[in-house]
Amino acid sequence: MILSLPLDDGHTLDVRIRTSSRAKRLRLVSSLRGVEAVAPVNYNMAELQEFIKSKKGWIRKTSDYYGKIRQKAGHLESEHVLYYLGKKFQFKVVKDRLHSATVSENLNTITFHVRDRRRYKHHIQEWYRRQTGQIIAERLPPISKQLGLHYNKFSIKKQKSRWASCSKKKNLNFNLLLAAAPQQVIDYVIIHELAHLVVMDHSKKFWDLVATFDPDYRSHKAWLEDHAPVIGVQDL
Ligand SMILES: [Zn+2]
Repeated sequence: MILSLPLDDGHTLDVRIRTSSRAKRLRLVSSLRGVEAVAPVNYNMAELQEFIKSKKGWIRKTSDYYGKIRQKAGHLESEHVLYYLGKKFQFKVVKDRLHSATVSENLNTITFHVRDRRRYKHHIQEWYRRQTGQIIAERLPPISKQLGLHYNKFSIKKQKSRWASCSKKKNLNFNLLLAAAPQQVIDYVIIHELAHLVVMDHSKKFWDLVATFDPDYRSHKAWLEDHAPVIGVQDL
């Protein structure tokens, strides 16, 4: 049974009522799960309500306290999420003698085996670097051939605010976190950089060229803009 306690600010606070044969008198328990009133089996409802009302200040204070902890825990949980090929994965870090990573599509989890758990962010970064490197090595040559746009060489770099860049020497740089994006979005980034070999700026001429190779480029561009903060380009 749940008793809704009206608060001064218009909100209500739910107090779960649980009877216990061992309870000799009314008592309140506050925890991460919420506030619970433990009552003897033959409790009097009016008495219970009166008791809860008299403890309103305490209930308010402790539930605020646990509420903050819950929020923090939720925040930590969200930090254990990463994107890989456009999909959200939960990740786990386990201590092991050898470094490895296992991706489970079914369970939606990636497990990182690391020697030093304190350096897990570094390991995740290196994992992204390998994934991105493989994808670019696979996709860039055929796309370049197909478009007839030839680059010099490419590299995978840690870049804080850019997904990719193109130099005057026709060298292409890709952000190591690019593997977080869906395949079509990665292809768009490749097309975008190859198009810079013809038009260096972001003029209408440039976007028209991109559109001929990727008619859906607007939605791909939007995906990157929307996800840049959650993928945490600034974090890793
Ligand atoms: Zn550009």
